[in-house]
Amino acid sequence: MSSDYLIELRNIGKRFGGVQALDDVSLAIRPGEIHCLAGENGSGKSTIIKVISGVYTPEQGEILIDGKPVSKLDPIKAVQSGIQVIYQDFSLFGNLTVAENLAMNTFVLEGRKVMKWAECRKIAQAALDQIGVSMDLNAEVGTLPTANKQIVAIARAVIANARLIIMDEPTTALTRHEVDALFKIVRDLQAQGIAILFVSHKMREMLEISESLTVFRNGRKVAEGDMKDYDEVAITLAMTGSAIETP
Ligand code: ADP
Ligand code: MG
Repeated sequence: MSSDYLIELRNIGKRFGGVQALDDVSLAIRPGEIHCLAGENGSGKSTIIKVISGVYTPEQGEILIDGKPVSKLDPIKAVQSGIQVIYQDFSLFGNLTVAENLAMNTFVLEGRKVMKWAECRKIAQAALDQIGVSMDLNAEVGTLPTANKQIVAIARAVIANARLIIMDEPTTALTRHEVDALFKIVRDLQAQGIAILFVSHKMREMLEISESLTVFRNGRKVAEGDMKDYDEVAITLAMTGSAIETP
């Protein structure tokens, strides 16, 4: 059966010892949607990312991909379903070139041990073309500025046939100019039907890039809806739960 949603999480609960990190959380993402997940430190954002990517198995709730219940989502199933996460450290190989980092998974999947440079370049260039970026394929990734490392990580997600790219606080180390460049890439990905889950606590950026919003507080979903119905004050209030204090 087809579904409107690429992924649907229903009533998810996840506990770490005495901490209920996620409590009855539901979240659904459509193909090609830019969805923002907001919340203060400790609100459960990283935990839900790890549930979506199959790293954590929730104790409660249900996960559906393309409308079909998934009995037990694990990292391999998640990747096969097109779910890619870009963590803040990017998990790249700093001592390898841009081309090698981008081609590596393809070679591993094909069970090959030797990467031919010409093939590497071809795979890498195709991915960079798809996101509309040009970059020195020979550069060692460890020597690149943060913004370029991030682009390599995005290109790697694209090569892995991403349908949903989760970005955890992607603008933390970027200049305004680099944020603009990132947002252009994000919109290009969206135009190709790729959904983005943009995890952030920066109001302006969320309002600028996202169409829809979910807010977590203390492991619970406290707000959701179209971004056009929110402003900075409304998001702040949802995130903190505090009304403006009177003296
Ligand atoms: P966020 O990413 O929004 O800052 P997290 O999802 O990392 O929040 O954390 C949510 C809650 O779960 C916090 O109280 C945190 O301390 C707790 N938590 C997260 N991961 C673990 C873990 N592996 N072990 C124990 N507690 C954890
Ligand atoms: Mg986190």
